[in-house]
Amino acid sequence: MALTTEQSEMQQSVRELLARLVSRELLDDVERGSRPATTDTRWKKLTDVGLPGLFIPEHAGGSGASNVDVAVIAAELGRVLCPDPIMTVWDATEVLLCAGTGAKYVGAVAAGAMRPVLAVADEAGCWSNTVSPVRMQDDRVFGDVVFVEAADVATHFIVRSSTGSDTSLQLVAADDDGVLIAPMDAMVGRWWWRVEFRGARATQLTRDWNDVRDARWPIWMRIAAWCGGASQRLIEDTADYAKKRVQFGVPIGSFQAVQHNLASAAIAAAEVNNLAFTAAAALDAGETDAALLSAAAVTHGGDGFVSVARRCHQTWGGVGFCTESHVHHFSRRAKLVQQSRGGRPEHLEAFMDELTKAGTIRRATGTRGDTDGLARFRAEVREFACKSDDPVIAKQGTFPQGDTPEKRAFIRRLGERGWLGLAWPHSYGGAGLDARFQLVLQQELEYYSLPSASIEVGMVGPTLLRHGSDELKKEFLSRITRGELNVALGYSEPNAGSDLAALSLRAERKGDEYVLNGQKMYTSAAHFADVIWLACRTGGPGSGHRGISILIVDADAPGISISELATLGTHRTNVVYFDDVHVPVARRVGAENEGWRYIMEALDLERLTGFPTGGFLRDTDRLIEWYSENAGARTPEVRRRIAEIALRSLGAFSHAEHAMDVLAQHGVPTADATMLKVAVTEARQEHADAFLALMGPRALLRGENGILAGHFEEVWRDEIITTIAGGANEIQRNIIAQRLLGLPRQ
Ligand SMILES: Cc1cc2nc3c(=O)[nH]c(=O)nc-3n(C[C@H](O)[C@H](O)[C@H](O)COP(=O)(O)OP(=O)(O)OC[C@H]3O[C@@H](n4cnc5c(N)ncnc54)[C@H](O)[C@@H]3O)c2cc1C
Repeated sequence: MALTTEQSEMQQSVRELLARLVSRELLDDVERGSRPATTDTRWKKLTDVGLPGLFIPEHAGGSGASNVDVAVIAAELGRVLCPDPIMTVWDATEVLLCAGTGAKYVGAVAAGAMRPVLAVADEAGCWSNTVSPVRMQDDRVFGDVVFVEAADVATHFIVRSSTGSDTSLQLVAADDDGVLIAPMDAMVGRWWWRVEFRGARATQLTRDWNDVRDARWPIWMRIAAWCGGASQRLIEDTADYAKKRVQFGVPIGSFQAVQHNLASAAIAAAEVNNLAFTAAAALDAGETDAALLSAAAVTHGGDGFVSVARRCHQTWGGVGFCTESHVHHFSRRAKLVQQSRGGRPEHLEAFMDELTKAGTIRRATGTRGDTDGLARFRAEVREFACKSDDPVIAKQGTFPQGDTPEKRAFIRRLGERGWLGLAWPHSYGGAGLDARFQLVLQQELEYYSLPSASIEVGMVGPTLLRHGSDELKKEFLSRITRGELNVALGYSEPNAGSDLAALSLRAERKGDEYVLNGQKMYTSAAHFADVIWLACRTGGPGSGHRGISILIVDADAPGISISELATLGTHRTNVVYFDDVHVPVARRVGAENEGWRYIMEALDLERLTGFPTGGFLRDTDRLIEWYSENAGARTPEVRRRIAEIALRSLGAFSHAEHAMDVLAQHGVPTADATMLKVAVTEARQEHADAFLALMGPRALLRGENGILAGHFEEVWRDEIITTIAGGANEIQRNIIAQRLLGLPRQ
């Protein structure tokens, strides 16, 4: 998420303070239990910069920070694995702010005079159980509470206690004679404590524990942000290590196995981060799905951090397993945090409850960056798409690449509404908006299985705008905005796939024409396209990526022949032969031999717009609907699996939301587009498998006898190509490792 100037400054100053306060020795000592998690001196330093009272309202002595602000700081605490129990005290503060008389104590928390912690778990670590192990008798509490954090440095405990069927919240001073604490020997030293209440005097905060149940959403969001910060930091440290550690005479970071492992870790960390900030923004905006997003963020956050830690361990090799390196601190905390604050089963259960209430994951997406009229536009497209109930169009499926009169008419309708070229300047028939509008349009249309001219609008148009001659712009941009141009992409050849720079379609300059000879392969849409946007060799033999140019060639030009290449999926592709095809030099895009640069730029756009993120959400929603409509399918196991699928969808989609922020600020987000491509395509393949596994053999039947007319068997076949086309995912991981993490090329 794009931070404001104030947030960046706050982030920087907290980062500097924590760098001074949290040393490697401190982490070692706290882990061993030879030093407490904090001291009064340390706490004062943290209080002086306002951390304990960060989100306490200003009138109560705090800083009144928003949830997004708090997420920024939680991520910083995660980066250094800060042992001081700021997060723990924040949990208690959140509860105090929700509990009847609790608010009167928060001023003391902000001033650093009070360090309350929650003692609310049951024997299994759950927070949600309605019956507490602690009993009230008169105004005293009796019973044991386990999994209490920072009990040794707490000034107060907030205790859940039961009287008959009522569960209330009580405040107990830690120095009361009736309080005994003992460490629980856990994965991280003395992290959890057993607190025994032997008649300690208690002050009631609220009569009903349910009053504070909503406190868990911000608590969980913050933990997710903390996991995001910790994951990010661990990846950075690991990438640095991989650049320096030499084996076989080269840095291990140059090995593809290492690069791919860390690229996967980077994708997981980005999702943790994205979801946490999306949840924080939703909490700030009071959105209906803030609870759903917070539950998703904490579940995904714990899982993501654990997976990042495991991948990083692998990269460090043996030394990462030894306590002389610091990786073990991260993996211990990852596992611990995944099972804290109710624990993963409770986080997932809460997510499932919220998902059942919502009946869709889509409402929880597409909210970030919904400023500047974007939300209004999204609603407008939804209304339009819901009315577009033309059965032929609705049947287009996941890849609406076929050519039908209905599809052409529909694209023209988009043009008439001014929706093709939303992000282009007015002078070229565009709407002068930023690129997010185009992305929103496409996501929404995909959600309803409607075509969106993504290649023409998302890729060809922007490249022409940047590099095309006035003549080309004039001719092609206006045709695109009217919805009257179908473009096929002619990049791949039989011997140039991932290694596109090896392409050999020859373009020989003769006067003011090029003459093309050679072959393209997998040229989808060539059989109905008006033009082929192709990459050809204008440089000499061996010129590699320095000898490539882009031409726009009429698909019916003399000398072109097209033959079908049938596929496993629902759409056809083609082989295209060029035999002395004459193309005017004026049809060249940009400079001669500079085509590689334009292709790379355009591929970034393709990764952003070319993969059906909207369709991905729609299919997850279809699965949720199928579950709710099929009594026979409703088992706890199926419910859990659907929740895991929905979680994965939200995580993968979060890259699109982040890319929106980047697009609005800086233009094409290469790393985000790449992560989005990998995450969405791989999640979708897993989903396709899961859909079929859940639905059974009827899902493989087509037509009326099948489930949803065989939609999911089509999805399964179509999805196979998505991890290959548009740049195979292996190549994408190379890009993430080298461009985002700075690992060396081999
Ligand atoms: C249905 C379909 C539609 C398509 N549509 C179009 C289109 O419209 N226009 C177009 O130009 N192209 C299109 N393509 C082509 C597509 O972009 C290529 O298939 C893709 O780029 C991969 O190239 P390849 O098939 O030659 O596989 P290869 O490059 O031979 O790759 C095979 C395997 O080797 C791996 N590999 C290759 N190099 C490396 C490396 N350096 N490191 C690690 N792993 C590596 C790949 O990841 C892959 O797993 C389409 C393909 C299909 C099947």
